[in-house]
Amino acid sequence: MKMIEDFKNMVEKSLNLSEPWYVKGAEFHADEPAIHIYIGVTKRAVIACPKCGGATKRYGYEPRERVWRHGDCMFYPTFIHCRRPKVLCPSCGVQQVNAPFERQDSRFTLMFEGYAMLIMASMPIAKAARALRCDEKTLTNILNYWVEKAVDERKLCDIKSIAIDETSFRKGHDYVTVVIDAAKRAVIDVEPGKDASTVEKFSEKLTQKGGNCAEIKSVTSDMSAAFLSAVEEKFPNAKHTIDKFHVKQLVLKSLDEVRKKEQKESSEKQALFRGRKLFMIPEKRLTEEQRIALQSLSKQYPKTGRAYRIVSVLDDFYACETAEDADPVFAGLYSWMRRSRLPEMKNTAATLLKHKDRIMNYFDNRLTNAICEGINSMIQSAKRAARGFHTFKGFASKIFLVAGKLNLAVSCPF
Ligand SMILES: [Zn+2]
Repeated sequence: MKMIEDFKNMVEKSLNLSEPWYVKGAEFHADEPAIHIYIGVTKRAVIACPKCGGATKRYGYEPRERVWRHGDCMFYPTFIHCRRPKVLCPSCGVQQVNAPFERQDSRFTLMFEGYAMLIMASMPIAKAARALRCDEKTLTNILNYWVEKAVDERKLCDIKSIAIDETSFRKGHDYVTVVIDAAKRAVIDVEPGKDASTVEKFSEKLTQKGGNCAEIKSVTSDMSAAFLSAVEEKFPNAKHTIDKFHVKQLVLKSLDEVRKKEQKESSEKQALFRGRKLFMIPEKRLTEEQRIALQSLSKQYPKTGRAYRIVSVLDDFYACETAEDADPVFAGLYSWMRRSRLPEMKNTAATLLKHKDRIMNYFDNRLTNAICEGINSMIQSAKRAARGFHTFKGFASKIFLVAGKLNLAVSCPF
């Protein structure tokens, strides 16, 4: 049996080489260990000017050989060596010619970068760095380059419905605001911070990229005051809906506060602490066993039991088909919360009343909201995927990569 005879052809294909570029040879250095492949350029070949595409004269080579990391070969790191030619163009002067396998100023081949993007899309950055035997900073640079390019080139026409949400990174010290195209379910913008300026910056980008703020018909967000006024100002024709997820989250938070307080006051703290997760399960999803356990806990801890039933009414509210059906349920919920003798619920009731119109918009916007349903979980999964990034840019790039549905210009090796 012979060894691979067509090794040259294999290398040419994987580096996208064609005339006048050719493979000079390859070596295996057992001491490193690594594979080194040497690329040449035929001397007399006429090369077009990289700047204007016109005819040129050859002007020697770059002074020093350049090295690029390529995809591993049989698990050995593989390096490409080449001294690239220079050309003299009558209109552009002396120009450095780039090799067909590189992007300018990168020390990695395009195919390596494509592979790195694939790996980075599916695992945390630290893990990707280990898998690729590459440092995190270098990988983040590759990620930022390709994502930025794709985001810059993407048009934002025909966007009618958006969802805005904020999420924290760096252990909750910093925030980013994420804007999602509800129809395509894709992240279209990530801005640093969570104040009104994020909405303003997004509206500017939308306009620059072919969109029209006046055509935004629906905006879904949480209750933050910064978003409310900015949305009204920047998207005057949009119906603004406070999404179900955030309303539910607010009421559940109050329930948890009630539970913590009662737990502190109680002589039997443990039972309520152990049962705390039961109170987070919607009534309809409880198993028979859980229902019985919850009933007895509710008797023992009446305040938490009362707060739990309030959450159930909120679920009934969202189960309504129309705004007409939902309106009396809201009224009932509100008055019950006010009379609950639970200060946490009373405060939350006031917040709900303040935002009633925007909360009720849910029922007129059911279709959009159905699309938006999964958006928060999408942001959460993007956030999990972006773990490990210490800069805003890296964090934003990772969110775009996993949830942006981008058209990356780098080709995937598979
Ligand atoms: Zn030229």
